[in-house]
Order: sequence, then structure tokens, then C-alpha cells
Amino acid sequence: MNQAKQLVDTQRMFFYKGQTKEVEYRIQALQNLRQGIVKYQQRILDALRADLNKSEAEGYGSEIRIVLGELDHALEHLREWVAPRTVPTSSVITDAVSAIYPEPYGVALIIAPWNYPFQLAMGPLIGAIAAGNCAVIKPSELTPATSRLIYDLIQEVYPEEYIAVMEGEVETSTALLNEKFDYIFFTGSTGVGRIVMKAAAEHLTPVTLELGGKSPAIVHHDAELQLAAQRLVRGKFLNAGQTCVAPDYLLVHEQVYDQFMEQIRAEVQDKFGDDVMQNADFPHIVNTRNFDRLSAFLANGKTVMGGRSNRDQLMIEPTVLTDIAWDSPVMQEEIFGPILPVFTYSDLNPMLDEIVRRPKPLALYLFTKDEALQEQVLDQVSFGGGCINETLSHMTSHYLPFGGVGESGMGSYHGQQSFEAFSHHKSVLKRSK
Ligand code: NAD
Repeated sequence: MNQAKQLVDTQRMFFYKGQTKEVEYRIQALQNLRQGIVKYQQRILDALRADLNKSEAEGYGSEIRIVLGELDHALEHLREWVAPRTVPTSSVITDAVSAIYPEPYGVALIIAPWNYPFQLAMGPLIGAIAAGNCAVIKPSELTPATSRLIYDLIQEVYPEEYIAVMEGEVETSTALLNEKFDYIFFTGSTGVGRIVMKAAAEHLTPVTLELGGKSPAIVHHDAELQLAAQRLVRGKFLNAGQTCVAPDYLLVHEQVYDQFMEQIRAEVQDKFGDDVMQNADFPHIVNTRNFDRLSAFLANGKTVMGGRSNRDQLMIEPTVLTDIAWDSPVMQEEIFGPILPVFTYSDLNPMLDEIVRRPKPLALYLFTKDEALQEQVLDQVSFGGGCINETLSHMTSHYLPFGGVGESGMGSYHGQQSFEAFSHHKSVLKRSK
């Protein structure tokens, strides 16, 4: 019997025993994960350094801290989340009460990407456990040190019939997707998202798809420029731009373009030093394939900042490009690297039309004090989630469901929404006579 099938069968048998549904069992499981992560903290940081050259501060802040925050939030609220929710009953039915019972799906598959390889495997797992499921995690093969660490951590914390890790490349993912899971949570590219959804359709398995896309950032003429530059530089160049919700390209009002570019330059220098190529803590591009893909974009416009790279070290410095055509290669796919194409505008409306004509982005960031403009953009453009006068931070809130729309994904998670994502909501009407 193949390994994927054996694992799913074993987990399903374990699930049917019912233990994973007990709330005390779930709480203990989340506490065990927390203890395991604290114990493995240095190994996690070392793995992130080995795979992506993330500094300890970046690794802790953008991966471990977020996972611990989600764990603590789930531990604090799980008892409320699992309780049946009483709802009114339609007046045509008498002597009845109605309630919604959240119940686990069963055995869940979690497929994770490489860019936040720890956080994006553990975040969904917290939801799966909180909702009472068993789970198989497939980490990304492109970050092998983190994949191995996740395997070791999970093996130490849980029996395999409850939570397991299957390491491997596309073949492993394919073998898992051939099996019947009760829920699939996929984080990765839009292209592979389509493959996952097709495979899920064979078994009518529900899915969450956390995908990518080209997320625009807009800086209007009335924006607080220094603040906007600070927040944009942080959002764009964190993890060397390899962030699903990174601002992909920038639209700047022509009145403030020169001044804003100066602010961006100053901010990059302040944050990463005079010569980023010498900064030992600037994250690397994940592999040569992505390095070469990104390097080709450097010729798509005029370089007004940065532009240097080193293939041996997989380093590309923070780079700003202008004079870009909307149909150039850099505008055809998610960049996913430290390259920022910049367009100027005098009238935002045609720019909004341009955004709306393209696949719905995962995020959008708007810098302006003008509340009417804020409302206009929110009303006119469909996107997964985003920020006004900030970047990335919407994804750190337990109270904002995080996910895409259209080609940037379907479904959402974080906070209670992670519990809901991995739960079926069973509606029950009880009549007394
Ligand atoms: P990817 O789609 O190449 O891979 C993701 C996972 O799918 C990996 O575990 C990989 O082994 C597996 N996989 C790859 N090809 C497969 C196939 N043909 N069949 C089955 N499984 C396959 O994505 P990636 O390169 O790891 O990650 C980058 C992408 O993920 C970007 O598009 C980024 O925007 C997106 N992303 C989205 C989020 C989000 O929360 N929405 C978060 C991080 C990354």
C-alpha cells in the first residue's frame, strides 16, 4: 500500500475513535505544540537562516511570534468556539429550537509553501487541531531545513495517527492529493491552486486556497510621505519581497513622485545600510530558478534604485524600476522578489480601471488622508484584504479573516476563522413534540 494511503487510512481510523473531538484533547494538543515550538525555537531560527538567510529577528518576528500568537488566541477562546450556537427558529415552526454545531471534517491535508515555511505550515495546523481534525502536513521541498525541522517537531509532539508530516516534492503532493481527504488547505501559487482544486473535485473535498497575485500599492499626493515610505519599504522588502501580500507594484501621484523616491531611498538605506549587498542579514532568493526569473525583470524598465545582484549568494538588492509598460513581463506575473515597478498618475481613475481589469489581487494598500478616496477605492476594487496607510499588518490581526478572492484564493483563516475553516457547521432543529 502506498504511504499516503496508509497514512490517511490510519488517521481516519483514529479520527473515528472520537478522541480528537474532545475539547480537552484539543487544548492539550495545542499546548503540546506550543511547548514543542518553544523547545525547538533555536532550531527553527537556524533552519530559516539556512533556507532563506532570514535573520533571527526576522525569523522570530515574521514566523514564530505569529504562530505563538495564533496558538495563544486559540487556547484562550477554544471553549467559546466549540459551543453550539443557538439561533432563532422561523415562526412557521412552533415548539422548536435551532442550533448550529461546529464539527470537525475529519482528516485534513495541509500543503505549505516555502516563503514563510514554518508559519504557513503551523498556522493552518492550529485551525485543524482547534476544530478537532487529524492532519497531514506537506511542507515545501524548497526549504529543506525547515521541512526537516517541521517533521522532527511534529513527530516529537504527536502520534502519527493524529498529526503527521510527509516530506517531499511534487510527487509526494500528487500522491497525497490522489487520496480522499475531508478537507484540503493549500497555500501556494495560483497555478498549483488550480491543480489542487481539480484533485479535490474528484473526491468533492472542500478546500481553502491561499494563493498569490499582484498586489498594488497606491501613494496619493496627500499621503504622509515619510510614513508611507517606511511602511512600504518594510512591506515590500521583508523576506526580500518573497511575501504573498507584499506590495507588488506601486502607483504614485506625479506631484509627489520625486520626493517619494527620495524617501524610499533614505528608508532603504536606514533599514538595510549603505550597501545592501554587504548586509549579512538580507534574505536570499530561495533558489537559482527564482533568481534567474527575477533577474530577467531587471531589464523591463529603468533602474532608479538598486539593481545589483549576486547569483552565487542568491542576493538581489532592493530595486525600483520606472518606465514600465503595463504589458511587460514584470507586470504579467507576481514578482515575489525585491523589485518594485513604479508608475505615476495624475488621475487615479484609469489606474483603478487597470487594476480592476486584472485578476483580483490578494492585497491592496492605499496611502491617503482623503476618506472619500479611501471609500471609493474600497468600493471599486475587489481584493482579498489590505490596509489604508499601512502594509501587511491586516494579516497579523486575529480578528481579520485572511484570504484571497478570485485568482488570489478562496476561503480565509486566522483567529476564530481558522477554527471555522476546518469545521463543518451542522444545522440542527430540535422539536419538542
Ligand atoms: P507552489 O504553488 O509552487 O508550491 C506550494 C506547495 O505545493 C509546495 O509544497 C509544493 O511542493 C506543492 N506543489 C508544487 N507543485 C505542485 C503540483 N504540480 N502538484 C501538487 N503540489 C505541488 O508555491 P510556492 O512557490 O511554494 O509559493 C509561492 C506562491 O505562494 C506565491 O504565489 C505566493 O503568493 C503564494 N503564497 C500565498 C500565501 C497566502 O497566504 N495567500 C502565502 C504564501 C505564499
